[in-house]
Amino acid sequence: MFRLPTLRLRLLASPSSCLRRGASRQSARAEQIFKSKKDLPKTSWTSSRAIDELRASLGEDTISTDDEDLLRHGYSEWSSINIDQLPVAVAYPQSTEEVSTIAKTCQKYKIPMIPFSGGSSLEANFSAPYGGMSIDFTHMDKILSLHADDMDVVVQPSVSWMSLNEEIKDSGLFFPVDPGPSAKIGGMVGTSCSGTNAVRYGTMKDWVINLTVVLADGSIIKTRKRPRKSAAGYNLTNLFIGSEGTLGIVTEITLKLTVIPQETSVAVVTFPTIRDAAAAASKVMRAGIPVAAMEIMDDVQMGVVNKAGSTTKKWKEMPTMFFKFSGTKAGVQENVKLVKAIAKTHKSGDFEFAVDAQEQKTLWSARKESLWSMLALRREGDEVWSTDVAVPLSRLPDIIEVSKTELDSLGLFASILGHIGDGNFHESIMYNSKDPKERAAVEKCVKDMVDRALEMEGTCTGEHGIGLGKKDSLLKELGLDTVNVMKSIKGALDPHWLMNPGKIMDVPS
Ligand SMILES: Cc1cc2nc3c(=O)[nH]c(=O)nc-3n(C[C@H](O)[C@H](O)[C@H](O)COP(=O)(O)OP(=O)(O)OC[C@H]3O[C@@H](n4cnc5c(N)ncnc54)[C@H](O)[C@@H]3O)c2cc1C
Repeated sequence: MFRLPTLRLRLLASPSSCLRRGASRQSARAEQIFKSKKDLPKTSWTSSRAIDELRASLGEDTISTDDEDLLRHGYSEWSSINIDQLPVAVAYPQSTEEVSTIAKTCQKYKIPMIPFSGGSSLEANFSAPYGGMSIDFTHMDKILSLHADDMDVVVQPSVSWMSLNEEIKDSGLFFPVDPGPSAKIGGMVGTSCSGTNAVRYGTMKDWVINLTVVLADGSIIKTRKRPRKSAAGYNLTNLFIGSEGTLGIVTEITLKLTVIPQETSVAVVTFPTIRDAAAAASKVMRAGIPVAAMEIMDDVQMGVVNKAGSTTKKWKEMPTMFFKFSGTKAGVQENVKLVKAIAKTHKSGDFEFAVDAQEQKTLWSARKESLWSMLALRREGDEVWSTDVAVPLSRLPDIIEVSKTELDSLGLFASILGHIGDGNFHESIMYNSKDPKERAAVEKCVKDMVDRALEMEGTCTGEHGIGLGKKDSLLKELGLDTVNVMKSIKGALDPHWLMNPGKIMDVPS
């Protein structure tokens, strides 16, 4: 009944070799999922009417019900959670007006709408627990206008942050938010993402000037004009950032840009324990040294870099910090000196510097693609649970040490890495979800890490969002009164709960 070869080919066309290795496995696993899905969503009478109506008004190709397409928009190998449900159709709009038509039709037939950009989110953020229409912005991938003198750019949701930076590099400007390599601006707004540069430049919330949004009833709003600051009324821009597609569909985004630094230097340094590394990171922050990025990878993760062959060097398989320094030549030299002195007091090894721009790039991509490298090395049939928390900086050494001990005691292929300068770290665990004992142990380990972060006045997610899996933790973190305010906002903008239902909060019964 289902065909998979195209899916395999599409994924194999990805530029990353790590992704390629992961992808061929994804096909096998996706095949299993297909086989095990006895109750795939049947296209209901109302959905069929909506699909026919949309095809008639926007063209036959705008709506796909192809099985592979449904799988790609409801399942993700990278996601901590996958469910036995897929969207019933995928819409491919070409413009804000077409998105509005899609929303009006979905509203008329009461069909859930799930925005989809790069599909790299990790907490089942774009899954379709209620079926519905996935809205994929593949054809809305244009840079609409670059205002170099104003240091901003207007883009459509399917522009990737990496291609944006490539396209605009001659302007001397760049966009500094750097989540997963395949993420696109629409989804980055959706999850309020960040990345390795956040310690210096902040998160998505700091870089969006305005949004054009299609609401659940199809109406189109713009949240602000184009100045870099404004105190005009409620901050609707930030309301939509991090709302995971539950409040509206973002179709245009004006982003701030910043100047490409004169000089960049990348260094790697080991520590005897993960606690030493975390403590050094807190000190660097407290000393006010403006590092451009400060990342941690544990011994397991460094082993992954070696085995995956992501770089030409063989690294010591010890807790390791990756530093990026940027600014003027003199500023970079000064900051390197200061960081080295702090690291030494925490028993660091010697700093190793990337010799040229290419090596800097390779090193940083080894860090950024670590999840894919891990996936490429897992046991056949294993799933990944990759999740994040964040705590106030001073609590980082405590939480990271306990979490690492617990992770090691699982006896599984599991690692800690993260954006340590923001008090934000990730656990990635490979496990067999079909083994109830193994699954229960992993669930407990993750839950304990999240609870521990909350006890330390931290958050259940620093950057991946709530999605399907962290709704209980959100309630624990903020309490019912606060979550009820979120529900009121949701109800006001989307009274029928059609926008990405079941994410962040449960649908009221
Ligand atoms: C290897 C790897 C590394 C990663 N590293 C990081 C990291 O360092 N930091 C980090 O923050 N994340 C990281 N991630 C997670 C991921 O890249 C981010 O969550 C990213 O923001 C998702 O963007 P996307 O385009 O893939 O969004 P998608 O997965 O397509 O969607 C994410 C959410 O946004 C909603 N959405 C999508 N498009 C729109 C739209 N146009 N309007 C409204 N809502 C929309 C979706 O419904 C969904 O809820 C990583 C992922 C991978 C695979």
